[in-house]
Amino acid sequence: MNRKTSLKHRGESLADPKKQLTILTPSANAVPFGNQLLRSGHENLRSDRIDILQVNLGKLCNMTCSHCHVDAGPDRREIMQPKEIDACIEVLRQHPQITTLDLTGGAPEMNPHFCEIVTEAKKLNRHVIDRCNLTILLAQGFQYLPEFLADNQVEIVASLPCYLEENTDAQRGDGTYTKSVEALLKLNELGYGKPDSGLILTLVYNPVGQSLPPDQTELESDYRRELKSRFGIVFNRLFTITNMPVSRYLDYLIRIGEYESYMQKLVDAFNPGAIEGLMCRNTVSISWDGQLFDCDFNQMLELEVSVKEARSIHHFDYEKLAKRPIVIGQHCFGCTAGCGSSCQGAIA
Ligand code: SF4
Ligand code: SF4
Repeated sequence: MNRKTSLKHRGESLADPKKQLTILTPSANAVPFGNQLLRSGHENLRSDRIDILQVNLGKLCNMTCSHCHVDAGPDRREIMQPKEIDACIEVLRQHPQITTLDLTGGAPEMNPHFCEIVTEAKKLNRHVIDRCNLTILLAQGFQYLPEFLADNQVEIVASLPCYLEENTDAQRGDGTYTKSVEALLKLNELGYGKPDSGLILTLVYNPVGQSLPPDQTELESDYRRELKSRFGIVFNRLFTITNMPVSRYLDYLIRIGEYESYMQKLVDAFNPGAIEGLMCRNTVSISWDGQLFDCDFNQMLELEVSVKEARSIHHFDYEKLAKRPIVIGQHCFGCTAGCGSSCQGAIA
């Protein structure tokens, strides 16, 4: 019995990053991601600047989606504290070349200091992104959020895995679609998604099954047509994102016996044209406890940045981090498959 089968049979949780990394080693006949990079003419992968500070404000979330790579949920207690939030703001203050603060979670809005980090970043004239699950905008105690986000000109990047109710609810839980539509209508009312309002509303698609995302431009026009005709909803753009074989989605793939075939699909679809645009090349990801990573996925796998002396937000070193070698693994095939995938959608 191999390691993967034994995990499945013994019902162990995959929340432990070390267990995930054991599974995410190249199997006997698979090409390691590093070798694939070499074959495509890239000796190694390095960042070339830092435009975006992506801050994970915590694992607390009002939802428990089946594909969640953060393993977030209502029972999680990990929340970024004021000391780390202040350090993030200080990094922005000292480095005007970092133009964007990208807030994620969990549901980032559930961090009690969410409004503070937004307003401080806006005072510094930064573009702020809220990665929003939409349903939080209707939750008790959070109904002030749509107006707050609009007043601060925060870009909303909102998950909506399908314009069809059945598919959205299958991935994110019963009733999610109805609540998402209600939240989108509220955002539209405030001007989000409308031309010239300056309030950017981006929707995010990720596949409900084990497929790769379809063409982003074509899917965007399908979303536009369907959401407009069904509800009158408008939005600015759609990002397509590949499901990464990390955390809850990795667990799910193993449980249904599809891990190996999904990984093979990602490997077979390797696209060298996606390498230049990989998000780890212009982003630093910060965990709820202030540790630094190349991206949100490396964060979940506890693969810290390669610059040992700058692994905490309290020791941020722009010069060293901006040119760092990226820590890679088999999960990176998720970012280079097909049209490529990043927090800014398709790459190639
Ligand atoms: S995918 Fe997003 S909304 Fe769903 S549980 Fe994870 S963090 Fe929460
Ligand atoms: S998972 Fe993607 S973004 Fe993260 S290090 Fe690998 S290629 Fe870069």
